[in-house]
Parts: sequence; C-alpha cells; structure tokens
Amino acid sequence: MTVEPRTSIVWEYAPAPEATDHLRLAERYGLFIGGAFCEPAEARYVPTINPATEEPIAEIAWAGPRDVERAIEVARAAQPRWAALPDRERGKYLFRIARLIQERARELAVVETLDGGKPLRESRDVDIPLAAAHFFHYAGWADKLRYGVVAREVEPLGVVGQIVPWNFPLLMAAWKLAPALACGNTAILKPAETTPLTALLLAEICQEAELPDGVVSILPGDGTVGATLVRAPGLDKIAFTGSTAVGRDIQTALAGRGMELTLELGGKSANIVFEDAAIDQAVEGIVNGIFFNQGHVCCAGSRLLIQESVLDEVIAKLWARMGRLRIGDPLDKNTDVGAINSAEQLERIETLVAAGEDEGAVRRSVACSLPERGYWFAPTLFTDVSPAHRIAVEEIFGPVVSVLSFRTQAEAIEKANNSRYGLAAGIWTDKGAKAFEVASALRAGVVWQNTYNHFDPTAAFGGYKESGFGREGGPAGLRPYVRVVR
Ligand code: NDP
Repeated sequence: MTVEPRTSIVWEYAPAPEATDHLRLAERYGLFIGGAFCEPAEARYVPTINPATEEPIAEIAWAGPRDVERAIEVARAAQPRWAALPDRERGKYLFRIARLIQERARELAVVETLDGGKPLRESRDVDIPLAAAHFFHYAGWADKLRYGVVAREVEPLGVVGQIVPWNFPLLMAAWKLAPALACGNTAILKPAETTPLTALLLAEICQEAELPDGVVSILPGDGTVGATLVRAPGLDKIAFTGSTAVGRDIQTALAGRGMELTLELGGKSANIVFEDAAIDQAVEGIVNGIFFNQGHVCCAGSRLLIQESVLDEVIAKLWARMGRLRIGDPLDKNTDVGAINSAEQLERIETLVAAGEDEGAVRRSVACSLPERGYWFAPTLFTDVSPAHRIAVEEIFGPVVSVLSFRTQAEAIEKANNSRYGLAAGIWTDKGAKAFEVASALRAGVVWQNTYNHFDPTAAFGGYKESGFGREGGPAGLRPYVRVVR
C-alpha cells in the first residue's frame, strides 16, 4: 500500500541573517594596559579572521615580553588600592560590567559569531547572557567572601594571569575575571589568538564602567604570549583553560615557584543512555551534547554510551535528527552548526576522523552542501567503535560523536570511567535512584541528568584526572582566588 503524503508543501527556512551594520568595530585594536588601549612595544599587529569566510575583521596588537612586564607592574601597583576598596564598592564595579554587557549584548553576540564561527543563536542565547550572569553572580559575592569560603577570613592572592581558549571567548573571560576581581585581585587576561575581539570589547566595557586603571589588562597574542606570562616574575597565580598538553607545560613551568594554579583542561565525556530513558528527549540531549558550538566544548558528550537493547532505536533516531541540523552561515538565526574555529582545528578534526576510519569504525557524515570558503565539517557519527580506538580516547573537539554500547549499569560505569579525562558526564534514565547511583560512581566533575551542556553561574565546574583541578562558578569558584588567613 502506498501512503500519499498529506501535503506537498516543503517547509524550507528562508535565510534570517543577523545585521552587522550596528557594529562599532575599530580597524585596529591595541593592548589594554593601565585602563587604556596602547601600542605594543614591538609594534606587531596581526589580523583576526572570520572562520566562516576567511576574511579579516580587524588588526590586533600582539603583546611581547616588555608588554607582559609592563602589564604586571601596572596590575601590581593597582592591586592594593583595589583590594582596599570597601567590598561593596568592588561589587558595584562588577554590577556595572554585567549591566554594560547586557546593554551591548547584541553587538557582543554578533562579534563573537564573526570572530569565532559559532551560530548566532548560541552566542546570543548562551555565551553573552551567561557572561553577564557570571559578573552579576560574583558582584553579589564581593561583600560576602567569608560566607563563600566556609566562614573563614580570606585575603586576595594578588595579581593573577589568566589564559583562555577560543571556544567561548567572552564567557571564559567572565568565568576568570569575575571571581578574581570580586576577591580583590587584579588580573591580566590573555585571550586566544583566533578570538580576541570580545575580550577587547570587554576592555571598552571596563573603561565605560570606570573600573580603576590597571585592575584588568588584556594582552592578545599567540601561545608564546601565554608562555611568557606564565614564566614572568611578579604573578601570584595562573588560571588556565585549554588543552591538556599546554596545561602540563604550565604546571611544569610553575613547579617550585610557590604560585597558585588552576587548570581547566580537556575531556572525553560520556553521555550514557539507559534503556528506560525517554528516547526522543535523550536524542535531543545527545545532539545538544555534541553539536552545540560545533563540538568545540571541553565537556562535549563525545563518547555516547547506549544500552544495547535500545542501541538501534537511538542510532536510527539520532541519525534522522542529525539530517535535520542546519549547517552554514553562523550569522543566520536558523543555523544549528556553524564554522570550525580555525584551519588548524579543522585539520585536527580531519586527522582524528581519518584515524577512526582507518581503525575500522563506521563513519556516517551528514550530507549537506558546505560553503566554499571558510572552515567546515559536517556533523559525523561513528558506530562500531571499540574503547581502544583513538576516536573513543582522544578529544576531537569537533562535531563528531563516537558510539559505544553496554549491557549493564556496572559496565556503563566502567566504560564511562575508562578515560584519562574526567570533566563531565550525562545520564539519561527515568529512574531517579539509578541516576544518583551512577552519578556518584562516575569520576567526572559535572554530571547532568536528563539534560546536557547546561551551565549556570551558581554551579561549580571543573575536572578530575587529566581534565585539571580547581573549580569555577558558584561559591567554589571563589576559593582559587583567595588565601585563607584565619
Ligand atoms: P591551547 O591549549 O593551545 O590554547 C588555550 C590557550 O592557551 C590559548 O589562549 C593559547 O594561545 C594559549 N597557549 C598556547 N600555548 C601556550 C603555552 N605554551 N603557554 C601558555 N599559554 C599557551 O588549545 P588549542 O587552541 O591549541 O587547541 C588544541 C586542542 O586543545 C583542541 O583541539 C582541544 O582538544 C583542546 N582545547 C580544549 C579546550 C578546553 O576548553 N578544555 C579549549 C581549547 C582547546 P593561542 O590561542 O595563541 O594558541
């Protein structure tokens, strides 16, 4: 029997591009030191490009060793006055920054999307509101520090160096700066080489908020600027988010120097689907877990563990859902999956995907027409993956999910924990007791139940094992920025 379709209408989306004519971007940005934009000592400017088009957006000053030295001197000079302000006054500045981020939200979202390639829907609805929420949250803590740190008297560490990656540029800057400032530290932030723009707009916001000079400095540049900052004398702490390899290098460089360190590194997080889960809901969670931000997420649910009895059903539904993802212009409000952040990252993804095929896993990539220019990778699903395959072990940091199966709860826990990482996990089940039992057996800093990639400034985030140490977010995020005195 043939079934006639009920309608012949094809529901295509019309393009819905966000406007860019409201942007006020400069052609060139200097370094931000001592409350002002300035020329770098070695006059080096490098363009930042739009990964969706490969076109330059603006020229960015890259800091050199003399700039790092100057920023530290300025931050050191500003720190005692900043720490001596009444606590509520420090909170007031953070409130102002939060409000200004909200006021400039549209502009910040568009710039984040242009510079990093992420869909506007995500920068508009996730990155920018959460960045403001972090400043609001820590503004509230500034005069309650002794309650945040288990009723102890605390003092700031001093001057902190903060290095952030390219996947959530403004949000990571907020995660780092807001608690550091609330606690009375001054900070030097090194944004990622490929996404410096929103950090520089944040520098403008610091000026608008009349933040005292030298409390925040922003030094764009490549990895050598980060390495110089880490090795420079005069800092009291380094806070780093990025790859495990660089985290290891930083830890070695800091050894024996009596400095504080927090590391938020990579992950290969397990997203576990039990047979009693609401399957359609789980499929949405899997998609959000791995294709959000093109999979450029440290806690991405990149290892999908599915109970054998529902394996075929979940894969069929997931594959059908992947076929409906909209890939393309990140500025289009309908886009689900945008551009890969850089040519280097695209190459890393391609190398690991090729390794997956060579090792015998079965690859399915969504058939879609990708733009000719820019860096793109179609959402990809690997089945027949063995736990030893590179795609099951290494962080791909792209829109690629590797599926493994399990039979029992114990096997699920064992497989999920069989990783050198331990950043996050997801559990899909309608049994509350099972979720709690499994969550407490998982060695992962964050465990989501029946949701994934859900972030909140009041909740702590951080890893176990090679995913790093220290926590960001919530009251736990204050502890790495203070010294307990009594
Ligand atoms: P990196 O760890 O190299 O970059 C993170 C930040 O550290 C950037 O600001 C970077 O500068 C800076 N940096 C680089 N080298 C040094 C150094 N020796 N000392 C101090 N700072 C340094 O990440 P990549 O961009 O190279 O990405 C590589 C892989 O890392 C990804 O494929 C992914 O697997 C993982 N990653 C994990 C992230 C996470 O959130 N956990 C975030 C980003 C990447 P610059 O931008 O100039 O390189």
